[in-house]
Amino acid sequence: MNLAFSAADLAFRDELLHFLQQHCPPEAQVTRDRIGTDDVDDNGVMVIPAWAKAWQATLFDHGWMIPSYPPHLGGRNATPTQTLLYLEALAQRGICRSVHFGGYAIVGPSLLEFGNAQQQALAPAAIRGDTVWCIGMSEPGAGSDLAALSTRAEDAGDHFVVTGQKVWTSYAMVASRCFCYVRTDKDAPKHRGISVLLIDLDSPGVEIRPLRHLTGQAEFAEVFFDAVKVPRENLIGELNGGWRITMGSLAHERGGLWVEGVASCLRAVDDIIAMVARLGLQGDSAVTTRVARLYSQARSLRAMGWKGFASFAQGSSAPEHSYMKVAISELQQTLYEFGMDLQGSGLAVTDPAIAQEAGRWQSAFQNALAATIGGGTSGNTTQRGCAAGARPAAWLRRYAWTFPSPTSNA
Ligand SMILES: Cc1cc2nc3c(=O)[nH]c(=O)nc-3n(C[C@H](O)[C@H](O)[C@H](O)COP(=O)(O)OP(=O)(O)OC[C@H]3O[C@@H](n4cnc5c(N)ncnc54)[C@H](O)[C@@H]3O)c2cc1C
Repeated sequence: MNLAFSAADLAFRDELLHFLQQHCPPEAQVTRDRIGTDDVDDNGVMVIPAWAKAWQATLFDHGWMIPSYPPHLGGRNATPTQTLLYLEALAQRGICRSVHFGGYAIVGPSLLEFGNAQQQALAPAAIRGDTVWCIGMSEPGAGSDLAALSTRAEDAGDHFVVTGQKVWTSYAMVASRCFCYVRTDKDAPKHRGISVLLIDLDSPGVEIRPLRHLTGQAEFAEVFFDAVKVPRENLIGELNGGWRITMGSLAHERGGLWVEGVASCLRAVDDIIAMVARLGLQGDSAVTTRVARLYSQARSLRAMGWKGFASFAQGSSAPEHSYMKVAISELQQTLYEFGMDLQGSGLAVTDPAIAQEAGRWQSAFQNALAATIGGGTSGNTTQRGCAAGARPAAWLRRYAWTFPSPTSNA
């Protein structure tokens, strides 16, 4: 068995690192563990800054936006192994590709998979960031149970008339279009009466009200539709065939997220080890035992990710990666909570001018609370601490020790 990277893979990585050195703006290197962007207006509502727009376009134009895609879609026909190298290189350096994840990671791939030729032609602009998209799935009465959605679209021949409300819609206030899930047959079983429409957000009858996170910033919104006219050609796929698209969209969303999640856990472990040394706690066995446990959990998750990837690269499914969404988000909360514990009364100081770790752990913790909700909740079978602790220990042991990760070359 050869676990080394090929010469072509190593050349690919060298070219990437050279590109990053030449082009990556400092703002794209997100050193804090948080979702979304720090760029907000005076009211705390997100904006898309010029550097982010330029950076996403530069990645696309150089074939580094989605490397596995062909050049006209912002890629360079990279192999799965090269894609993983790419994702790890970015994640280890905390580099974000875009401040609005939905367009390139969910809408673009979904248009390519489910759209007709005219709709597929919208994908390059979604991936390059020229068009900003939001995704209208969740509603006040439809979150985990997405199929319960009730925003309705009445068929009026050459157009639909959409009425209802979406909630938690990320980027809605900066987006021009919504990839929107609507009910087109109220009498069919709930999974069978859903369709997907592309809705222009400047259409008459659309209202967007920003919602704030726990952190005070607004990156998502409520979106109201009051008899909004949507041309029939904006229907994606078959009428009432939207459930298949929801499953595809969620798979696109989860695809490479574990790489970023694992990197953020490993970064947090490193920061915790540095803080323990700074505080002179190396001799405290309660602290060091906790650090060792967190370290082994983070490393085990990385090994599990690679294990799943190995199956995936050989054409099999990788159920590990769905499980990892739960395990990583729970482990992040445990790590950041530990960071806050170690900080003690220093936690109260959030001004970076007077405190070394100012705001880092509490901000990360607050953001991590969203990670067990967004993209599907962890659910009450994975109570806090369980996914990262007792229950999956058997999984972690199995994958940590049976899959030798080829990291010595990485
Ligand atoms: C940062 C962030 C960004 C988001 N962005 C978007 C977006 O762009 N577009 C979009 O459409 N949505 C978005 N969402 C919404 C997200 O998808 C939903 O919040 C999520 O699906 C959960 O739905 P809910 O909030 O209605 O919670 P609920 O589904 O009401 O769940 C509440 C609690 O009940 C539990 N629960 C629910 N059903 C069951 C059950 N049957 N058995 C046991 N326990 C159950 C859940 O696990 C959870 O603990 C975002 C959310 C976050 C946090």
